[in-house]
Amino acid sequence: MVDSQFSIKTYEPVAQLLMNKIILVTGAGDGIGKTVAKIYARYGATVILLGRTTSKLASVGDAIKNKGGAATLIYPMDLEKATVTDYKDLAKVINNKFGKLDGLLHNAGILGERTSIEHQDLEIWNTVQQVNVYAPLMLTQACLPLLKKAPSASLIFTSSGVGRKGKANWGAYSVSKFATEGLMQILADELKTHTNVRCNCINPGATSTAMRASAYPDEDPSILFTAAQIMPLYLYLMSDDSRAISGQSMDAQ
Ligand code: NDP
Repeated sequence: MVDSQFSIKTYEPVAQLLMNKIILVTGAGDGIGKTVAKIYARYGATVILLGRTTSKLASVGDAIKNKGGAATLIYPMDLEKATVTDYKDLAKVINNKFGKLDGLLHNAGILGERTSIEHQDLEIWNTVQQVNVYAPLMLTQACLPLLKKAPSASLIFTSSGVGRKGKANWGAYSVSKFATEGLMQILADELKTHTNVRCNCINPGATSTAMRASAYPDEDPSILFTAAQIMPLYLYLMSDDSRAISGQSMDAQ
């Protein structure tokens, strides 16, 4: 169901929007994920910061602390290498510390290489699917029991325009985002009865980050949206304001 009342331009989240919520954000050390982690903390959440570079996560944790946010949990993990056991261990840590998980934002992602299918390096193809699709699948499986323990839980995947319409030379990345859209739809359908877990996709749209710069090296980043400008949808979909919304793929711009 789409919420016809919601508009990214007029959405005004209340100050306590995410109070008492435990939210896990992947790729929280940089780019969009870093901005999301900080804003979730500003609206009251306890944020679990997952990413591959410990120093970046620590700096986000410090920034949250300095602004008076709730204590964060820093959880370094390389999604390219993590195994089912690693995800189960993470779920155990969350369970022991918090007993539930109110939100999971699958944000971490990699671009791979911009090339044609004809010339696609197959190892890079696999790595992109591993980080962008297989890792979120394994993390979701590990965290679902914790999400089901929350009164109202939100599971969010990160898509892309090329996850809805294929485009030349976006090969592995584009296919990974099509898979992400499919995974979200299937999960939403499976979770719609007898659970309090909803599941949606966000398409951030062109946003000034390192990934965007590597995809479009000649582009002037000042013409793009900043991560801060696309936060309304991230807040809305993670909060109880979107309680009735599941199975949707929404644009943040
Ligand atoms: P960035 O490259 O700026 O940030 C990606 C984040 O993911 C980084 O924190 C990075 O960690 C982390 N990450 C990458 N690989 C791994 C890994 N193996 N293990 C753990 N963490 C990892 O990307 P964006 O912020 O631009 O993108 C965020 C999401 O939005 C992605 O899913 C992307 O596909 C999507 N998106 C972005 C758009 C844009 O225009 N920016 C447009 C459409 C979709 P580290 O910093 O340590 O490398």
